[in-house]
Amino acid sequence: MDNNINNHVSLWNLVYEKLKELLPGHAINTWFEPLVPITITDEELVIEVPNQFSYEWIDSHYQKNLVDAIGVVTENQISYRFIVSAKGQKKQKEESESYKKVEKVVEPAPNNLNKTYTFKSFIKGANNEFAKSAAQSVSESPGKNSFNPLIIYGGVGLGKTHLIHSIGNKIHEKNPRSKVVIVTSEKFTLDFVNSLRKNRTIEFAQQYRNADVLLIDDIQFFRGKEQTQEQFFHTFNVLQQAGKQIVMTTDKYPAEIKGLQERLLSRFQSGLSVDIQPPNLEIRIAILLEKAEQNGIRLDYNIIEFIAKHIKKNVRDLEGAIIRILAKSSLMNKEIDFQLVKEVIRERIGSSFSPELSIEDVVKKVSEISNVSEIEIVGKSRKMEVAEARQVSMYLCRKIIGTSLNNIGVFFGGRDHSTVIHAVKTIDEKIINKKHIKEQIESIKQELDFSLA
Ligand code: ADP
Ligand code: MG
Repeated sequence: MDNNINNHVSLWNLVYEKLKELLPGHAINTWFEPLVPITITDEELVIEVPNQFSYEWIDSHYQKNLVDAIGVVTENQISYRFIVSAKGQKKQKEESESYKKVEKVVEPAPNNLNKTYTFKSFIKGANNEFAKSAAQSVSESPGKNSFNPLIIYGGVGLGKTHLIHSIGNKIHEKNPRSKVVIVTSEKFTLDFVNSLRKNRTIEFAQQYRNADVLLIDDIQFFRGKEQTQEQFFHTFNVLQQAGKQIVMTTDKYPAEIKGLQERLLSRFQSGLSVDIQPPNLEIRIAILLEKAEQNGIRLDYNIIEFIAKHIKKNVRDLEGAIIRILAKSSLMNKEIDFQLVKEVIRERIGSSFSPELSIEDVVKKVSEISNVSEIEIVGKSRKMEVAEARQVSMYLCRKIIGTSLNNIGVFFGGRDHSTVIHAVKTIDEKIINKKHIKEQIESIKQELDFSLA
């Protein structure tokens, strides 16, 4: 092999050049540009991928190209192996010139800890900051605070699993020797049932009772499982008495979980329960910006805002939308534009797709197109172009969003509803007689009307 390519960085550069010959630009930019060569052995080039999704995508779509490119460059002497970035962050690439850090040997973390779920990657907002602070405080001094147990509760996809893994990762990072046990309640149940079957309940109990930190995700699944709850109750007591930290997540305020034994619920009350609420619009925007960056895509702010306005339920859906947009753009060999984003949103939220425009949205758009400021539109000026922009806005509010005459009147400078009726009538007539109004209304409608029909 050429001396040049003994080093992982120069080898990767050659492979990368080769890939550029084999694949279209968008595939290179989306999937290969974010990869980072980590090290090379006699047999393998180790490449870091930014996240699990990229890993699976490249593996299922470009494996052959990658094998070919590496084959040509190394005369088939070297294969490759992917590792998923611990931080899931592309930024890392610029940060570290050499990757020695990564090669440093550390105690392995419990292998079911998801390393991408860290406090750093958890975006804080008013909806979750109490939960995040409590989780951080527990990781600073596990077992040595009054937050024991700590219970994080909230709806689906709001970050409970992310937070509980962040706790595990942080504790492991601070003290690699402390025994962090993290399981879902299903896994706990399954382990218990298996231990019963194999007569190994003692080993089962030990495995959990030796923990320094016990993290149990989704305890609502203990519901109705009496024997498992009994086991859990004992485990809980042993650990709590020994001053070990316990953290749990659940979908509801603990006292409201049906089917959990009273004695467990009353134990839970000795600690702290914190909730996570759904994110509001600003937080959704922040999350999307962050997730786009993590996935190495640049999205126009308008697009981000558009997604955030339509996908409201939870963070998982926001993330899903970003990934889907990425995938679609790559699969169909298309740039990420409004059209593509709309299609994805539409697929994801299906029939509940409704533009949910506000009067403000309408005024903003009319202002952009007519060059009359928003303040003037809602103001008192009788200048002809201002009055017309105002009438167009009123018309659109009435026709597109169906705002009541009264509310339109109030919004546009406290006018009474006969003024609004007059405006709508005037524009109706102008659409027939005046080409510029017709065109203006059509283009505004088109921009406001996100449906693709
Ligand atoms: P839950 O366990 O509450 O159902 P998850 O923790 O699985 O939700 O979160 C769903 C997805 O959303 C995960 O990929 C997680 O990383 C992401 N996520 C949730 N909340 C946040 C947040 N505040 N910041 C960054 N990512 C988040
Ligand atoms: Mg979860």
